[in-house]
Amino acid sequence: MQVLENISLKPYNAFGIDVKARYFAELHSDNDIAAFFSALTEERMPFLVLGGGSNMLFTKDFEGSVACIRSKGIVKLMEDEKHVYLRIAAGEVWDDVVKYAVDNGWGGIENLSLIPGNAGTSPVQNIGAYGVELKDVLYSVEVADVIARHYRAFRPADCEFGYRTSIFKNRGKGRFVITSLCLKLDKQPVLKLDYGDIRRELGKAGVKDVTISAVRDIIIKIRSSKLPDPSIIGNAGSFFMNPVVSADEYARLIKKFPAMPSFKSGDEVKIPGAWLIEQCGFKGKRYGDAGVHENQPLVLVNYGSATGKEILVLAEKIIKSVLKKFGIGLEKEVNIF
Ligand SMILES: Cc1cc2nc3c(=O)[nH]c(=O)nc-3n(C[C@H](O)[C@H](O)[C@H](O)COP(=O)(O)OP(=O)(O)OC[C@H]3O[C@@H](n4cnc5c(N)ncnc54)[C@H](O)[C@@H]3O)c2cc1C
Repeated sequence: MQVLENISLKPYNAFGIDVKARYFAELHSDNDIAAFFSALTEERMPFLVLGGGSNMLFTKDFEGSVACIRSKGIVKLMEDEKHVYLRIAAGEVWDDVVKYAVDNGWGGIENLSLIPGNAGTSPVQNIGAYGVELKDVLYSVEVADVIARHYRAFRPADCEFGYRTSIFKNRGKGRFVITSLCLKLDKQPVLKLDYGDIRRELGKAGVKDVTISAVRDIIIKIRSSKLPDPSIIGNAGSFFMNPVVSADEYARLIKKFPAMPSFKSGDEVKIPGAWLIEQCGFKGKRYGDAGVHENQPLVLVNYGSATGKEILVLAEKIIKSVLKKFGIGLEKEVNIF
Protein backbone atom coordinates (compact mmCIF):
# COMPACT_ATOMS: atom_id res chain seq x y z
CA MET A 1 0.00 0.00 0.00
CA GLN A 2 1.37 3.36 -1.04
CA VAL A 3 0.28 6.53 0.76
CA LEU A 4 0.44 9.57 -1.51
CA GLU A 5 0.33 13.25 -0.50
CA ASN A 6 -1.63 16.19 -1.92
CA ILE A 7 -3.45 14.19 -4.56
CA SER A 8 -6.16 15.68 -6.80
CA LEU A 9 -9.43 13.79 -6.34
CA LYS A 10 -10.73 14.86 -9.77
CA PRO A 11 -10.28 11.39 -11.34
CA TYR A 12 -11.87 9.79 -8.28
CA ASN A 13 -15.29 11.49 -8.22
CA ALA A 14 -18.04 11.29 -10.84
CA PHE A 15 -18.76 15.02 -10.61
CA GLY A 16 -15.14 15.62 -11.69
CA ILE A 17 -14.58 18.19 -8.94
CA ASP A 18 -10.95 19.23 -8.56
CA VAL A 19 -10.12 19.17 -4.84
CA LYS A 20 -7.07 17.74 -3.09
CA ALA A 21 -6.65 15.06 -0.43
CA ARG A 22 -3.84 15.60 2.10
CA TYR A 23 -3.15 11.84 2.08
CA PHE A 24 -4.49 9.21 -0.30
CA ALA A 25 -4.14 5.45 -0.58
CA GLU A 26 -5.69 2.75 -2.73
CA LEU A 27 -6.47 -0.30 -0.58
CA HIS A 28 -6.32 -3.50 -2.62
CA SER A 29 -6.90 -6.14 0.05
CA ASP A 30 -8.40 -6.73 3.49
CA ASN A 31 -4.83 -6.54 4.84
CA ASP A 32 -4.39 -3.07 3.30
CA ILE A 33 -7.70 -1.99 4.86
CA ALA A 34 -6.65 -3.29 8.28
CA ALA A 35 -3.20 -1.66 8.08
CA PHE A 36 -4.59 1.67 6.89
CA PHE A 37 -7.24 1.99 9.57
CA SER A 38 -5.00 0.71 12.40
CA ALA A 39 -2.52 3.47 11.58
CA LEU A 40 -5.30 6.05 11.43
CA THR A 41 -6.95 5.22 14.71
CA GLU A 42 -3.58 5.56 16.43
CA GLU A 43 -2.96 8.96 14.85
CA ARG A 44 -6.61 10.13 15.14
CA MET A 45 -6.50 11.67 11.69
CA PRO A 46 -9.81 12.44 9.93
CA PHE A 47 -10.49 9.95 7.18
CA LEU A 48 -12.84 9.44 4.29
CA VAL A 49 -13.71 6.16 2.61
CA LEU A 50 -14.05 6.40 -1.14
CA GLY A 51 -15.53 3.82 -3.48
CA GLY A 52 -16.20 4.83 -7.06
CA GLY A 53 -16.92 8.43 -6.02
CA SER A 54 -20.27 8.32 -7.82
CA ASN A 55 -22.33 9.64 -4.93
CA MET A 56 -20.05 12.40 -3.65
CA LEU A 57 -19.84 16.14 -3.96
CA PHE A 58 -16.54 17.59 -2.79
CA THR A 59 -16.80 21.25 -1.80
CA LYS A 60 -13.29 21.69 -0.39
CA ASP A 61 -9.90 20.03 -0.01
CA PHE A 62 -9.89 17.10 2.41
CA GLU A 63 -7.36 17.72 5.17
CA GLY A 64 -7.08 14.09 6.18
CA SER A 65 -6.64 10.64 4.69
CA VAL A 66 -8.72 9.32 1.82
CA ALA A 67 -8.94 5.52 1.58
CA CYS A 68 -9.96 4.35 -1.87
CA ILE A 69 -11.31 0.81 -1.60
CA ARG A 70 -10.13 -1.44 -4.45
CA SER A 71 -10.19 -4.96 -2.89
CA LYS A 72 -11.36 -7.64 -5.34
CA GLY A 73 -12.87 -11.10 -5.19
CA ILE A 74 -16.18 -12.88 -5.68
CA VAL A 75 -16.50 -16.24 -3.93
CA LYS A 76 -19.42 -18.66 -3.90
CA LEU A 77 -19.72 -19.37 -0.16
CA MET A 78 -22.49 -21.96 -0.33
CA GLU A 79 -25.60 -22.97 -2.21
CA ASP A 80 -28.78 -24.92 -1.66
CA GLU A 81 -31.57 -26.00 -3.94
CA LYS A 82 -32.92 -22.47 -4.37
CA HIS A 83 -30.16 -20.03 -3.54
CA VAL A 84 -26.54 -19.21 -4.01
CA TYR A 85 -24.59 -17.11 -1.51
CA LEU A 86 -21.81 -14.90 -2.87
CA ARG A 87 -19.15 -13.15 -0.81
CA ILE A 88 -18.04 -10.01 -2.62
CA ALA A 89 -15.05 -7.86 -1.70
CA ALA A 90 -15.97 -4.21 -1.14
CA GLY A 91 -13.82 -2.91 -4.01
CA GLU A 92 -15.52 -4.95 -6.73
CA VAL A 93 -17.33 -2.75 -9.24
CA TRP A 94 -21.07 -3.18 -8.60
CA ASP A 95 -22.02 -3.64 -12.24
CA ASP A 96 -19.32 -6.31 -12.71
CA VAL A 97 -21.04 -8.23 -9.89
CA VAL A 98 -24.42 -7.87 -11.62
CA LYS A 99 -22.91 -9.13 -14.87
CA TYR A 100 -21.27 -12.08 -13.08
CA ALA A 101 -24.58 -13.04 -11.44
CA VAL A 102 -26.54 -12.73 -14.68
CA ASP A 103 -23.91 -14.69 -16.68
CA ASN A 104 -24.29 -17.50 -14.14
CA GLY A 105 -28.09 -17.40 -14.30
CA TRP A 106 -28.52 -16.19 -10.72
CA GLY A 107 -31.37 -13.72 -10.32
CA GLY A 108 -32.14 -10.85 -7.96
CA ILE A 109 -29.88 -7.97 -8.97
CA GLU A 110 -30.44 -7.70 -12.73
CA ASN A 111 -32.74 -4.68 -12.19
CA LEU A 112 -29.80 -2.93 -10.49
CA SER A 113 -27.71 -3.10 -13.67
CA LEU A 114 -25.43 -0.19 -14.57
CA ILE A 115 -25.59 1.57 -11.19
CA PRO A 116 -22.10 3.07 -10.88
CA GLY A 117 -19.82 2.53 -7.88
CA ASN A 118 -18.43 -0.22 -5.73
CA ALA A 119 -20.25 -3.30 -4.47
CA GLY A 120 -19.07 -2.40 -0.96
CA THR A 121 -20.89 0.93 -1.14
CA SER A 122 -24.19 -0.61 -2.23
CA PRO A 123 -25.51 -1.01 1.35
CA VAL A 124 -24.60 2.61 2.27
CA GLN A 125 -27.64 4.08 0.56
CA ASN A 126 -29.41 0.77 -0.06
CA ILE A 127 -29.08 1.28 -3.81
CA GLY A 128 -32.30 0.88 -5.71
CA ALA A 129 -33.71 0.97 -9.22
CA TYR A 130 -36.60 -0.50 -11.20
CA GLY A 131 -38.48 -1.82 -8.17
CA VAL A 132 -35.51 -3.58 -6.51
CA GLU A 133 -33.36 -2.47 -3.58
CA LEU A 134 -30.13 -3.96 -2.31
CA LYS A 135 -31.82 -5.01 0.95
CA ASP A 136 -33.98 -7.48 -1.05
CA VAL A 137 -30.93 -9.64 -1.84
CA LEU A 138 -28.53 -8.84 0.98
CA TYR A 139 -27.60 -11.65 3.37
CA SER A 140 -24.92 -9.90 5.45
CA VAL A 141 -22.35 -7.08 5.49
CA GLU A 142 -18.88 -7.36 7.03
CA VAL A 143 -17.41 -4.18 8.45
CA ALA A 144 -14.31 -2.94 10.20
CA ASP A 145 -15.46 -0.93 13.22
CA VAL A 146 -12.66 1.64 13.32
CA ILE A 147 -13.78 3.03 16.69
CA ALA A 148 -14.22 -0.23 18.65
CA ARG A 149 -11.35 -1.63 16.54
CA HIS A 150 -12.77 -4.97 15.62
CA TYR A 151 -14.58 -6.67 12.73
CA ARG A 152 -18.24 -7.51 12.86
CA ALA A 153 -21.04 -8.68 10.61
CA PHE A 154 -24.42 -7.00 10.15
CA ARG A 155 -27.55 -8.84 9.08
CA PRO A 156 -30.06 -6.77 7.07
CA ALA A 157 -32.25 -6.23 10.15
CA ASP A 158 -29.30 -4.43 11.85
CA CYS A 159 -28.64 -2.15 8.87
CA GLU A 160 -31.53 0.31 9.49
CA PHE A 161 -32.35 0.27 5.79
CA GLY A 162 -34.80 2.73 4.31
CA TYR A 163 -35.31 4.53 1.02
CA ARG A 164 -31.73 5.44 -0.04
CA THR A 165 -30.45 5.16 3.51
CA SER A 166 -28.92 2.86 6.13
CA ILE A 167 -26.96 2.92 9.37
CA PHE A 168 -23.81 3.33 7.23
CA LYS A 169 -25.06 6.62 5.80
CA ASN A 170 -26.22 7.96 9.16
CA ARG A 171 -25.09 7.14 12.68
CA GLY A 172 -22.48 4.61 11.55
CA LYS A 173 -20.80 7.02 9.10
CA GLY A 174 -17.10 7.38 9.91
CA ARG A 175 -17.25 4.29 12.11
CA PHE A 176 -18.07 1.28 9.94
CA VAL A 177 -15.92 0.58 6.90
CA ILE A 178 -17.56 -2.09 4.77
CA THR A 179 -15.01 -4.73 3.77
CA SER A 180 -17.32 -7.23 2.03
CA LEU A 181 -20.91 -8.26 1.61
CA CYS A 182 -22.79 -11.49 1.06
CA LEU A 183 -25.67 -11.63 -1.41
CA LYS A 184 -28.35 -14.32 -1.52
CA LEU A 185 -29.35 -14.84 -5.16
CA ASP A 186 -32.05 -16.99 -6.75
CA LYS A 187 -31.23 -20.07 -8.79
CA GLN A 188 -34.78 -19.91 -10.18
CA PRO A 189 -35.04 -16.19 -10.89
CA VAL A 190 -38.31 -14.35 -10.40
CA LEU A 191 -38.48 -11.52 -12.93
CA LYS A 192 -39.59 -8.05 -11.86
CA LEU A 193 -40.89 -6.29 -14.93
CA ASP A 194 -43.60 -3.98 -13.64
CA TYR A 195 -41.53 -0.91 -13.02
CA GLY A 196 -40.72 1.98 -15.34
CA ASP A 197 -40.50 1.15 -19.01
CA ILE A 198 -39.18 -2.42 -18.72
CA ARG A 199 -42.19 -4.23 -20.23
CA ARG A 200 -42.73 -1.63 -22.95
CA GLU A 201 -39.07 -1.66 -24.00
CA LEU A 202 -38.94 -5.48 -24.00
CA GLY A 203 -42.01 -5.44 -26.25
CA LYS A 204 -40.52 -2.79 -28.53
CA ALA A 205 -37.32 -4.82 -28.85
CA GLY A 206 -39.41 -7.89 -29.74
CA VAL A 207 -37.99 -9.95 -26.85
CA LYS A 208 -40.10 -13.14 -26.57
CA ASP A 209 -37.92 -15.16 -24.21
CA VAL A 210 -37.61 -12.87 -21.20
CA THR A 211 -34.60 -13.94 -19.13
CA ILE A 212 -32.56 -12.08 -16.50
CA SER A 213 -30.05 -11.45 -19.25
CA ALA A 214 -32.74 -9.80 -21.43
CA VAL A 215 -33.84 -7.70 -18.42
CA ARG A 216 -30.25 -6.58 -17.80
CA ASP A 217 -29.80 -5.64 -21.47
CA ILE A 218 -33.03 -3.64 -21.59
CA ILE A 219 -32.26 -1.81 -18.33
CA ILE A 220 -28.80 -0.89 -19.62
CA LYS A 221 -30.47 0.43 -22.78
CA ILE A 222 -33.06 2.49 -20.87
CA ARG A 223 -30.54 3.89 -18.38
CA SER A 224 -28.01 4.78 -21.08
CA SER A 225 -30.66 6.72 -22.98
CA LYS A 226 -31.89 8.63 -19.91
CA LEU A 227 -28.93 9.30 -17.64
CA PRO A 228 -25.80 11.29 -18.46
CA ASP A 229 -22.58 9.25 -18.49
CA PRO A 230 -20.21 10.67 -15.80
CA SER A 231 -17.22 9.95 -18.05
CA ILE A 232 -18.66 12.48 -20.51
CA ILE A 233 -20.44 14.96 -18.23
CA GLY A 234 -19.77 15.16 -14.50
CA ASN A 235 -22.70 14.08 -12.31
CA ALA A 236 -23.61 11.88 -9.38
CA GLY A 237 -26.95 10.52 -10.60
CA SER A 238 -30.01 11.81 -8.74
CA PHE A 239 -28.87 14.67 -6.56
CA PHE A 240 -32.14 14.64 -4.60
CA MET A 241 -34.37 11.90 -3.28
CA ASN A 242 -37.98 11.71 -4.37
CA PRO A 243 -39.93 13.22 -1.47
CA VAL A 244 -42.28 10.94 0.44
CA VAL A 245 -45.35 12.57 2.04
CA SER A 246 -48.19 11.33 4.25
CA ALA A 247 -51.59 10.52 2.72
CA ASP A 248 -53.05 13.65 4.40
CA GLU A 249 -50.30 15.86 3.03
CA TYR A 250 -50.81 14.33 -0.42
CA ALA A 251 -54.57 15.07 -0.27
CA ARG A 252 -53.73 18.74 0.42
CA LEU A 253 -51.18 18.84 -2.40
CA ILE A 254 -53.29 17.19 -5.11
CA LYS A 255 -56.14 19.61 -4.42
CA LYS A 256 -53.83 22.53 -5.07
CA PHE A 257 -51.77 20.88 -7.88
CA PRO A 258 -54.08 18.43 -9.72
CA ALA A 259 -51.41 17.53 -12.32
CA MET A 260 -48.91 16.37 -9.68
CA PRO A 261 -47.77 12.77 -10.42
CA SER A 262 -47.32 10.32 -7.55
CA PHE A 263 -46.62 6.68 -6.60
CA LYS A 264 -47.85 4.74 -3.60
CA SER A 265 -45.09 3.93 -1.14
CA GLY A 266 -46.58 1.79 1.63
CA ASP A 267 -49.02 4.04 3.54
CA GLU A 268 -47.29 7.10 2.16
CA VAL A 269 -47.01 8.74 -1.25
CA LYS A 270 -43.85 9.36 -3.27
CA ILE A 271 -43.74 12.47 -5.48
CA PRO A 272 -41.27 12.53 -8.39
CA GLY A 273 -38.69 15.16 -7.47
CA ALA A 274 -37.92 15.66 -11.18
CA TRP A 275 -41.47 16.97 -11.76
CA LEU A 276 -41.24 19.40 -8.83
CA ILE A 277 -37.91 20.75 -10.08
CA GLU A 278 -39.20 21.08 -13.64
CA GLN A 279 -42.29 22.96 -12.42
CA CYS A 280 -39.97 25.45 -10.72
CA GLY A 281 -38.33 26.14 -14.10
CA PHE A 282 -34.93 24.56 -13.48
CA LYS A 283 -34.95 21.79 -16.12
CA GLY A 284 -31.93 22.30 -18.41
CA LYS A 285 -30.90 25.53 -16.63
CA ARG A 286 -27.18 26.34 -16.56
CA TYR A 287 -25.31 28.70 -14.24
CA GLY A 288 -21.70 28.87 -15.43
CA ASP A 289 -20.54 25.26 -15.51
CA ALA A 290 -23.11 24.07 -12.93
CA GLY A 291 -26.42 22.95 -14.33
CA VAL A 292 -29.58 20.88 -14.17
CA HIS A 293 -29.68 18.06 -16.72
CA GLU A 294 -31.87 18.78 -19.73
CA ASN A 295 -33.73 15.43 -19.64
CA GLN A 296 -33.56 14.42 -15.99
CA PRO A 297 -33.94 17.42 -13.62
CA LEU A 298 -33.05 15.32 -10.53
CA VAL A 299 -29.50 15.18 -11.90
CA LEU A 300 -27.19 18.15 -11.39
CA VAL A 301 -24.23 18.32 -13.74
CA ASN A 302 -20.75 19.78 -14.01
CA TYR A 303 -20.24 20.99 -17.57
CA GLY A 304 -16.49 21.32 -17.04
CA SER A 305 -14.94 23.35 -14.31
CA ALA A 306 -17.77 23.95 -11.82
CA THR A 307 -16.68 23.85 -8.20
CA GLY A 308 -18.45 21.75 -5.60
CA LYS A 309 -19.59 24.97 -3.93
CA GLU A 310 -21.23 26.16 -7.17
CA ILE A 311 -23.11 22.87 -7.51
CA LEU A 312 -24.16 23.13 -3.87
CA VAL A 313 -25.41 26.72 -4.31
CA LEU A 314 -27.54 25.52 -7.24
CA ALA A 315 -28.88 22.63 -5.14
CA GLU A 316 -29.85 25.01 -2.32
CA LYS A 317 -31.54 27.34 -4.80
CA ILE A 318 -33.63 24.43 -6.11
CA ILE A 319 -34.54 23.28 -2.58
CA LYS A 320 -35.67 26.82 -1.66
CA SER A 321 -37.73 27.19 -4.82
CA VAL A 322 -39.50 23.80 -4.45
CA LEU A 323 -40.23 24.57 -0.79
CA LYS A 324 -41.70 27.95 -1.67
CA LYS A 325 -43.92 26.65 -4.48
CA PHE A 326 -45.04 23.29 -3.04
CA GLY A 327 -44.20 23.38 0.68
CA ILE A 328 -42.11 20.21 0.11
CA GLY A 329 -38.56 19.91 1.43
CA LEU A 330 -36.26 18.12 -1.05
CA GLU A 331 -33.51 16.09 0.60
CA LYS A 332 -30.08 15.56 -0.92
CA GLU A 333 -29.16 12.01 -1.87
CA VAL A 334 -25.53 12.85 -2.60
CA ASN A 335 -22.92 12.92 0.19
CA ILE A 336 -21.42 16.39 0.63
CA PHE A 337 -17.86 16.80 1.87
C1 LIG B 1 -25.12 8.19 -13.51
C2 LIG B 1 -25.45 7.71 -12.11
C3 LIG B 1 -26.58 6.95 -11.91
C4 LIG B 1 -26.90 6.49 -10.62
N1 LIG B 1 -28.01 5.73 -10.45
C5 LIG B 1 -28.35 5.26 -9.23
C6 LIG B 1 -29.51 4.44 -9.05
O1 LIG B 1 -30.22 4.11 -9.99
N2 LIG B 1 -29.80 4.02 -7.79
C7 LIG B 1 -29.00 4.34 -6.71
O2 LIG B 1 -29.32 3.90 -5.59
N3 LIG B 1 -27.89 5.10 -6.86
C8 LIG B 1 -27.56 5.57 -8.08
N4 LIG B 1 -26.43 6.36 -8.24
C9 LIG B 1 -25.62 6.71 -7.08
C10 LIG B 1 -24.39 5.79 -6.86
O3 LIG B 1 -24.14 5.01 -7.99
C11 LIG B 1 -24.61 4.87 -5.65
O4 LIG B 1 -24.88 5.61 -4.49
C12 LIG B 1 -23.38 3.99 -5.39
O5 LIG B 1 -23.67 3.00 -4.44
C13 LIG B 1 -22.18 4.81 -4.93
O6 LIG B 1 -21.07 3.95 -4.91
P1 LIG B 1 -19.58 4.53 -4.88
O7 LIG B 1 -18.68 3.38 -4.64
O8 LIG B 1 -19.32 5.34 -6.08
O9 LIG B 1 -19.69 5.45 -3.58
P2 LIG B 1 -18.86 6.78 -3.19
O10 LIG B 1 -19.44 7.94 -3.94
O11 LIG B 1 -17.41 6.54 -3.31
O12 LIG B 1 -19.27 6.89 -1.66
C14 LIG B 1 -20.59 7.18 -1.26
C15 LIG B 1 -20.66 7.18 0.28
O13 LIG B 1 -20.38 5.89 0.79
C16 LIG B 1 -19.25 5.92 1.67
N5 LIG B 1 -18.50 4.68 1.41
C17 LIG B 1 -17.89 4.30 0.24
N6 LIG B 1 -17.34 3.08 0.38
C18 LIG B 1 -17.57 2.69 1.66
C19 LIG B 1 -17.24 1.52 2.42
N7 LIG B 1 -16.53 0.50 1.90
N8 LIG B 1 -17.64 1.45 3.73
C20 LIG B 1 -18.37 2.47 4.28
N9 LIG B 1 -18.71 3.59 3.61
C21 LIG B 1 -18.33 3.70 2.32
C22 LIG B 1 -18.49 7.18 1.29
O14 LIG B 1 -17.70 7.66 2.37
C23 LIG B 1 -19.64 8.12 0.94
O15 LIG B 1 -20.19 8.67 2.11
C24 LIG B 1 -26.08 6.82 -9.52
C25 LIG B 1 -24.92 7.58 -9.74
C26 LIG B 1 -24.60 8.02 -11.02
C27 LIG B 1 -23.35 8.82 -11.23
